Amino acid sequence: MRRLLVATRNSHKTEEIAAMLGSSFQVVDLSALPGSPVVEETGVTFHENSTLKAVAISQISDSLVLADDSGLEVDALQGAPGVYSARYAGEGADDEANNRKLLSELAGVASADRTARFRCVIVIARSGEVLAGFEGAVEGRILESPRGAAGFGYDPLFVPEGHLRSFAELGPTVKNELSHRARAMEEVVRWLRQGG
Ligand code: IMP
Repeated sequence: MRRLLVATRNSHKTEEIAAMLGSSFQVVDLSALPGSPVVEETGVTFHENSTLKAVAISQISDSLVLADDSGLEVDALQGAPGVYSARYAGEGADDEANNRKLLSELAGVASADRTARFRCVIVIARSGEVLAGFEGAVEGRILESPRGAAGFGYDPLFVPEGHLRSFAELGPTVKNELSHRARAMEEVVRWLRQGG
């Protein structure tokens, strides 16, 4: 079985990626590498941050490394929170604080103008060298208040296009079919099958 190291401490991301890869991969994340460095996300694009994480972690492990950098772009906020999605309400902010901040920034914005998308950039590296990069996005809109309990991050506030319920209400099976991460991972799976 091939081993894939996901360069994250976010167990939700790891679970989603493992579900998308299926049983032919042993998927582990940084919780299996105690003492691994915290990679500063100093980039200004998802691609830059994903590359920083994939390269740094692949320098300290023999495994194939996959790094996901992702976030939410809200049109009425000129693309914010974008690469700052994890720390929108401040360094170390939790999902609830980030969601509260998003709702307060969007106060008074009409439903039709609450369009947004999740974006995901995945970079794969080995021994400090980038092997490939992939992207995925899903369009949707931001609710007026959180709904649902599944998932993580902004899932309770995001309704994907063509649906009436939030990602947190739709749950993992539906989310893992149409999310930004699912779309990037489809390309990853194709690349891995071709011998990547
Ligand atoms: P990263 O770990 O620096 O890539 O930050 C990702 C942040 O973007 C997360 O902490 C969430 O706030 C947000 N995010 C990314 N993907 C998702 C998702 O699938 N659902 C909800 N929020 C997400």
